[in-house]
Amino acid sequence: MHKKTIVELAQGLKDREFSSVELTKYYLDRINKSDLNAFITVTDDLAMIQAQAADDKIAAGDSGILTGIPYAHKDIFCTKGVKTSAGSKMLDNFVSPYDATVSHKLNSEDLVMLGKANMDEFAMGSSNENSYYGEVKNPWNKTKIPGGSSGGSAASVAAGLSVFATGTDTGGSIRQPSSLCGITGLKPTYGRISRYGMIAYASSLDQAGPMTKTAQDSAIVLNAMAGFDEKDSTSAQVDVPDYTANLNNSIEGLTIGLPKEFFSEGLDDVVASSVMAAVKEFEKMGATVKEVSLPNSAYAIPTYYIVAPCECSSNLSRLDGVRYGYRCEDPKDLEDLYLRSRSEAFGDEVKRRIMIGAYALSAGYYDAYYLKAQKTRHLISDDFKKAFTEVDVIMGPVSPTTAFDLGSVKDPVSMYLADIYTLSANLAGLPGMSIPAGFAQNLPVGLQLIGDYWSESKLLNIAHQFQLQTDWHTKEPQEN
Ligand code: GLN
Repeated sequence: MHKKTIVELAQGLKDREFSSVELTKYYLDRINKSDLNAFITVTDDLAMIQAQAADDKIAAGDSGILTGIPYAHKDIFCTKGVKTSAGSKMLDNFVSPYDATVSHKLNSEDLVMLGKANMDEFAMGSSNENSYYGEVKNPWNKTKIPGGSSGGSAASVAAGLSVFATGTDTGGSIRQPSSLCGITGLKPTYGRISRYGMIAYASSLDQAGPMTKTAQDSAIVLNAMAGFDEKDSTSAQVDVPDYTANLNNSIEGLTIGLPKEFFSEGLDDVVASSVMAAVKEFEKMGATVKEVSLPNSAYAIPTYYIVAPCECSSNLSRLDGVRYGYRCEDPKDLEDLYLRSRSEAFGDEVKRRIMIGAYALSAGYYDAYYLKAQKTRHLISDDFKKAFTEVDVIMGPVSPTTAFDLGSVKDPVSMYLADIYTLSANLAGLPGMSIPAGFAQNLPVGLQLIGDYWSESKLLNIAHQFQLQTDWHTKEPQEN
């Protein structure tokens, strides 16, 4: 049952092979038996109520494709009446009084939320080892990281603890864990999905998206999540197409760009050979391959690790122990309240980023760091603009290595190197995907697709066509 996709389960519900209540119980049971630590909160009671409501809709003939499907919601989306922690001690006591727009949209599809998925604290991390609630394990090998920051979401889908999950991607957090856990993850164009009620990390980079077994499921979930929202001034007034409509288009004549900078030093040979084998598969399907250059992608890491900390230092300043969230015991004055609440509740990585951001934004340093980073960001976007005059899609690796051992990467700068191939798409605001493309060392390898602005339909089409020819996306880890 847990191997089935949204499309298959929706058919089963429609044909009354099982009810949503049965399906939900089945998944809750799997979650309760799992030791992956993929969830921060399991919402059993709420899930059963939603499942019953979904069954009533199905009985009344008033259901859609997502009615009654159980999913995991990253714990960064505000959910009314349910704890929303963002993986932090700071928000361990925070029960959101309102729904994020994404939560609201998913509720109106009559989905069943099984719980809130574990994540790196405030989405800062590449390995899901920065959660206040403990590390998440990779279902393919429990001594390995699942990737971050949406590691709970990825592990949950890969291990069959939910049919799909939501994620957010500021610098790779949907694509990278999807790659390391062998699932399909999509980060849409910046502005495609509302950020309202999604706890902000770096506002000019954050974007939500679906994490699913297949590209077809991804299209279905994106249909539900996307759209303009007047509550988010950065959400775009661009029409939402039916993302399932073009999945079956032929990709014959497609021009694929391979950036030479994505295949240089630092990329594991085993990852490179899976990626190249996937590209060969596309050639068999009638695509042509061309080398392109993204010369400024060399600056993606330094640029991102200025922009993101600057924005986070500003966003996280609201968490001061006064209004909501953690407050220290017996503060002796206001300064002590701020200082101790924040020192006691934020983890090391979050503190590091706040300090870097506050420093880079301070008078005298702003021009040297933030302004410079904004300029470099432009150059990175321009490289893509140029490349997309020559090719339809860019392909490459998602992560330079397969999933590494839990606890093995100790210094922050080495950890940041894991983001080398994903950050550029966020800096430019472009859509990107990770699709299962092979195995190395018995661990999944993902292929990254990067498209031009608003080309989600095309990316999903390309990914779906690949999944019709290959079976990497159907592989399942041994029972957990
Ligand atoms: N690993 C990157 C970081 O730590 C990206 C995280 C994300 O996309 N949320 O900032």
